Amino acid sequence: MKIKLANNLSNAIRLSLGLVCLFSSTNFVLASSSDKRALKTSQASVSPGAIQTSKLQVDNVCKKIAKKLGSVHLSDCKNRGMEASGGHSVGGLPIIVKEYGPVGNRTPTAKVLLIGGIHGDEYSSVSLVFKWMKMLDRYHSGLFHWKMIPVMNPDGLLQKKSQRMNKNGVDLNRNFPTPNWEAESHKYWVKTSRNPRRYPGTAPLSEPESQWLANYIVEFKPDVIVSIHAPFGILDFDGPRTAPKNFGPLQLNLLGTYPGSLGNYAGINKQIPVVTIELPYAGIMPKKHEISSIWMDLVKWLKTNSGEITHQAEKDETPTTPQSRVLKTAEASK
Ligand SMILES: [Zn+2]
Repeated sequence: MKIKLANNLSNAIRLSLGLVCLFSSTNFVLASSSDKRALKTSQASVSPGAIQTSKLQVDNVCKKIAKKLGSVHLSDCKNRGMEASGGHSVGGLPIIVKEYGPVGNRTPTAKVLLIGGIHGDEYSSVSLVFKWMKMLDRYHSGLFHWKMIPVMNPDGLLQKKSQRMNKNGVDLNRNFPTPNWEAESHKYWVKTSRNPRRYPGTAPLSEPESQWLANYIVEFKPDVIVSIHAPFGILDFDGPRTAPKNFGPLQLNLLGTYPGSLGNYAGINKQIPVVTIELPYAGIMPKKHEISSIWMDLVKWLKTNSGEITHQAEKDETPTTPQSRVLKTAEASK
């Protein structure tokens, strides 16, 4: 089923959202053995032949994404200059990434990893990353060093009936190596009446997607991780630093932490602040002004927490008006 992600609410398909996106979790220990395991799978250096292969992989998966999501036009995906990361899903789909690196001599004030679609049935979390990438293509100033992963769970999104879990039926957001994962994650899962949507897997990092992401975090060393979900319509936060109070209409509401979640693994254990953006609907995009205000508040919070607030910086990374021409163009492309 092709789900149209529309800003026009009257035309949008409201999905029945029994979807619950649980994330973060509790205690932690250094997951050093898991980090080592992740590093072993480190991707190889890129050759000219590999670049062509990467482009073919990106184009192929872009066709599938555009076919699935009405709000992502094929050109929105193919023209972003994304690369195949070298990581793959269980089903062999590439995990595609886009980097917005340093500009000129300017040293970025923070490295930010932004992730969409770790749950495959949360369509809006994928579309939002594409919209923000399109905006950054125009406004990236080098204030931050971004790496963006629009579709963290390509099998979950792109199979005929999208699902939260990956192709092995594992909730990737319960598969990260939090301390006592073995003891806690399955106990927690049993408490959910063995809900298949919460299945944490047979072992921490048992899945290629979570293994790749853990490795990517070790290599990139982000200062902040932003993970996009739906449909709770709030902000959640794990880790050090001051939690943001709100991004646009989304208010801080700490939902708790869970064994094996990214917020628990990266935020609490590795002490990398993890902001979880929970969009209000999985199948309906936020309104244009909300997409802008969430972004601008994210940038403002990043600037505050990376210790650089200058007059110049205020102008960076954001459109000059809340409803930018870029976003309007993106919306018109649906
Ligand atoms: Zn989710």
